[in-house]
Amino acid sequence: MPNQPTHPVELDSVSRHHGTGEHAVRALDGVGLRFARATLTAVMGPSGSGKTTLLHCAAGLDRPTAGRVVVDGTDLTGLDEHALTLLRRDRIGIVFQAFNLVSALTAAQNVALPLRLAGRRPDPGQVALALDRVGLADRADHRPSALSGGQQQRVAIARALIVEPAVLLADEPTGSLDTGTSRAVLALLRELVDRHGQTVIMVTHDPAAAAWADRVVLLADGRVADDLHGRTDAATIARRTASPEVPA
Ligand code: ADP
Ligand code: MG
Repeated sequence: MPNQPTHPVELDSVSRHHGTGEHAVRALDGVGLRFARATLTAVMGPSGSGKTTLLHCAAGLDRPTAGRVVVDGTDLTGLDEHALTLLRRDRIGIVFQAFNLVSALTAAQNVALPLRLAGRRPDPGQVALALDRVGLADRADHRPSALSGGQQQRVAIARALIVEPAVLLADEPTGSLDTGTSRAVLALLRELVDRHGQTVIMVTHDPAAAAWADRVVLLADGRVADDLHGRTDAATIARRTASPEVPA
């Protein structure tokens, strides 16, 4: 694709405050981060440190109080709700801990849903390819209740990828899965990055999950407390998250 930005997501001095005065909660407080194309970044930090807020700001689901977010070369700041909705629909894929599949629809119908919502006729080949990419070509006609948790999450990932988003955002994607199933989902995210050039930002509290990432961003009180570039082993990540101010 021509003119693909080198950094599909950029946060420039992003703050998100709730309330004002002495009761103000600084969910994000001057966060500056750029996420490079074809990388997997893990965002970590204690509960309440701003991880979900960061992801929601990157997804255009929440608006910063100050600063700007640029997704796929577009500054979200000036966009009205309609333009934001279109950008979210066409350029951003989101995966949640709870899968959020439609229980009455088959895997293939779930994957095709974003295209239908966009008023596009789903191409069966495209849907089959998306399911194949997550290793579920043979489960196309299964409803979510007939799939394991890991399989449901892979359907959710296929659904997020069907529009070929500039970035895939995942909030605790393995938070509801056991260790073995988590590994399969993380291996899939890794493969999407390595083989298909997908950019992925994943919130996790699990050092073992973050060890799959190319970079680990550590938040504390709405600020970037640490930023580890390159693959880092789980033990080191666990040590850093326990005491981010102590150098390794
Ligand atoms: P995390 O995902 O790391 O647990 P969040 O981004 O959900 O953290 O929240 C960061 C901080 O912002 C927390 O202190 C949380 O209580 C606060 N917060 C989040 N959303 C709201 C809101 N709508 N109103 C008030 N405070 C909020
Ligand atoms: Mg959260």
